[in-house]
Amino acid sequence: MTVVEGVVAEEGSGRSEAPKMPPGVLVEGPVVDAKFRDSYISFALMIAGSIGALIWAFTYGLGRVEISVFAGMFMLTTMGIGFMHRYFVHRSYRCGPVMRTILAAIATMAVQGSILKWVSNHRRHHLHSDKPGDVHSPYYDGFGHRIDGFAKGMGHAQGGWVWDQATTDAEYYARDILADPISTFFTRTRWYWYALSALIIPGGIGYAFGGMHTMIGCVLFSGLFRSYMMTMATSLVNSVCHSDGRWGYRRYQLDDGTTNELVTTLITFGEGLHNNHHRFPRDAYLSHAWYEIDINGLIILGLGKLGLVHDIFIHPENERRRD
Ligand SMILES: [Zn+2]
Ligand SMILES: [Zn+2]
Repeated sequence: MTVVEGVVAEEGSGRSEAPKMPPGVLVEGPVVDAKFRDSYISFALMIAGSIGALIWAFTYGLGRVEISVFAGMFMLTTMGIGFMHRYFVHRSYRCGPVMRTILAAIATMAVQGSILKWVSNHRRHHLHSDKPGDVHSPYYDGFGHRIDGFAKGMGHAQGGWVWDQATTDAEYYARDILADPISTFFTRTRWYWYALSALIIPGGIGYAFGGMHTMIGCVLFSGLFRSYMMTMATSLVNSVCHSDGRWGYRRYQLDDGTTNELVTTLITFGEGLHNNHHRFPRDAYLSHAWYEIDINGLIILGLGKLGLVHDIFIHPENERRRD
């Protein structure tokens, strides 16, 4: 093993032609193995559950309870990724420990990895957006090789990146998360929150409202299938909203492929305003026009009005535009 500027590379791995990766990227080793374990288990459960959900839906149909729980949990976890992104990654507002605990619980329930992993990956994404070193760019793989072909790149950004033999060093990108006992508690106990989100809450509501039959439908459809669909929806931000203008529009000409795309924006509660976001990464509210509907941003502003969060950051240039 050789260690070069934070990059751990196996000698003779045939990757010597790769561009030099920036620090904070781990290539192979125990941290990458641990990432694979987590990803294999969670994706195996979500995909098996999704297949089960489709078979169940075609065999027995779906009732009001299954569909309501799907919608409710989809919305809750979409808000959760908003908290993960704008609070834990970008610190676009502040709050006390009770509120932070609630935000951490909902964020982890999105079943998109721990707070530590999500924050590390996303900060690395911003620092090297669509350049070698970006964790999920449509243009470069996890080793900094150029990806040939648009469709292949979109596949990498949409989910292929999870299976790169590389990961992000949390010691480099997320020391604040490692120093926060609430964030590390939720990182350690992530599997309980995944289970709560994908199995226990949907199953419990299903059992309460319709007995055993509805419980099974809810676990498969509103738990596991919903978690998978929700992950795919969030991933549209990595693919569609980095399509270099192929989908959506570029309000700001930045040195990356980011776009604002309005369908993704609706599905993700505002995260699809991604060109605005890369231009003003710390902003709590991402809408720069009446047709840019940022529900996660409105939730933050609402929480601010209720006094539950404070020091909401909006760049002076955007604050002026809203006046
Ligand atoms: Zn991005
Ligand atoms: Zn971001």
